[in-house]
Amino acid sequence: MSDKMHRRAFIRTAVLGAAAIPTLIAAAETLPMLDVKDATAVALGYVPDATKVDAKSNPTYKAVQTCANCVQFQGKPGEKAAACPLFVGKSVAAGGWCKVWIQKPGT
Ligand code: SF4
Repeated sequence: MSDKMHRRAFIRTAVLGAAAIPTLIAAAETLPMLDVKDATAVALGYVPDATKVDAKSNPTYKAVQTCANCVQFQGKPGEKAAACPLFVGKSVAAGGWCKVWIQKPGT
């Protein structure tokens, strides 16, 4: 394949990829909120308000831990809710928490 053909293939791929980004962002914005009664949410002790975490049942919990500063949270700073890979197809509250919280680097 010539350099010219490589360049065309690269540009075509870049344009198609860029065109898909708004669709992916829109999909994330419209995800329904996770139901606290969801079986996985219950198993992981998810709460939409981290101030309501039962500290006795969750001794590793610290008051500074929220979904917003968890490595799994897919939202941008300031967003009230976003996707979490643990709950496919759902949004979690930025102020929420669950047992598998891991600090996001830089937070
Ligand atoms: Fe929140 Fe992180 Fe648990 Fe997802 S894994 S629900 S972002 S604490």
